[in-house]
Amino acid sequence: MNAPDPVALGVRAEAMIAELGAISAEPGRLVRLFLTPEHRRAADLVARWMRTAGLSVSEDALGTVRGRFGSAKRRLLIGSHIDTVIDAGKYDGPLGVIAGILAAEHFARAKAELPFGIDVLAFGDEEGSRFPATLTSSSACAGAFESEALATADAQGVTLAEALRIYGKNPDDIAAAAYQPEDAAGYIEVHIEQGPVLEAKGEPLGIVTGIVGQIRLRVTVTGEAGHAGTVPMNLRHDAYTGAAEMALALERIAREHPDDGMVGTVGWIEAKPAAVNIIPGRVLFTVDLRALTDALRLEATERFAAEAARVAKARGLTVAIEPFHEIATAHCAPALQEALAASVTELGHTPIRLPSGAGHDAQVMVRLCPSAMLFVRCRGGISHNPAEFASVADMGLAVAALIRFIEKFQLG
Ligand SMILES: [Zn+2]
Repeated sequence: MNAPDPVALGVRAEAMIAELGAISAEPGRLVRLFLTPEHRRAADLVARWMRTAGLSVSEDALGTVRGRFGSAKRRLLIGSHIDTVIDAGKYDGPLGVIAGILAAEHFARAKAELPFGIDVLAFGDEEGSRFPATLTSSSACAGAFESEALATADAQGVTLAEALRIYGKNPDDIAAAAYQPEDAAGYIEVHIEQGPVLEAKGEPLGIVTGIVGQIRLRVTVTGEAGHAGTVPMNLRHDAYTGAAEMALALERIAREHPDDGMVGTVGWIEAKPAAVNIIPGRVLFTVDLRALTDALRLEATERFAAEAARVAKARGLTVAIEPFHEIATAHCAPALQEALAASVTELGHTPIRLPSGAGHDAQVMVRLCPSAMLFVRCRGGISHNPAEFASVADMGLAVAALIRFIEKFQLG
């Protein structure tokens, strides 16, 4: 087989990203949500690319497009997603699908005889932009689909089950979409970094060590509303200043572990009754806390709860904390990380090891089989934004590294 030319691969990847990026629900900005007419058009385009690449194409009960090379029972899975956030960039998701197609095509064109087959997977629901549930398509492949998700509804009140039927799918077929663990030899996902680390290190490619676990909390602080002019400062029970002190405590806790992927964010806050001349009597805010190990995340969550209780007591407030979303840390398989790193080194670059602070389909696929991710440098670390950009050269290197990885991949 000829060694692939990274530049030529990068040029093709860029053209395909542009073509997919033009499929949007809105002129002028990229919006492609799960199970919409735009999803259909994108899936059809991906299916056409797969066929042209020499893959046989099918679609599962969640709309995941599957391009299959080789007939071996054991499969190397390569995938990412083709849904987007609202006003998205073009690279987040599609790059991983396109990298998989170009890599599989390399082996299909050469009629390579591999001891395993390759399945390229184009998932339709990673971002969770339409339904409150997220990662449902990769969950179905991993055999981890939770049927409660079917009852969740979008902003128009359409449930996931109804949307699947409109898309031509039958929710009864979801169980059959799952891979048998013994058939899934590994899962690899190429994705833009969506952060600034690779750019800062001056390297095009990174090896993900793990995807940080995450907890989301809803915090309610209750004090006493009062007249902003007549209640003296020392007699106030201001729920807002209490909440502010709690947010600062979260920041302090998260800053203690910069090397463990720990980040804490208060991204949404609401003060009631929300008037310029009333002391806030009640404040609601959210906490998003992520860390590279489950133990650290749990410890930080407990410390935040203790700090919030201490602040509330000192200020004569009450505080209630309710978790509403939690996902465990996903560790990338060490052997796959090593193999990806070796491929990057062979291309003359230094593989940077880094955790992923963002969620990915790989987070679910680890429940099925050993999984790993290859990150691609993106300009300014900007993502979920139309300014998102990865260079032709960097994308080409990612596909070339993926091809080298497949050449050497061994069934465990
Ligand atoms: Zn993504």
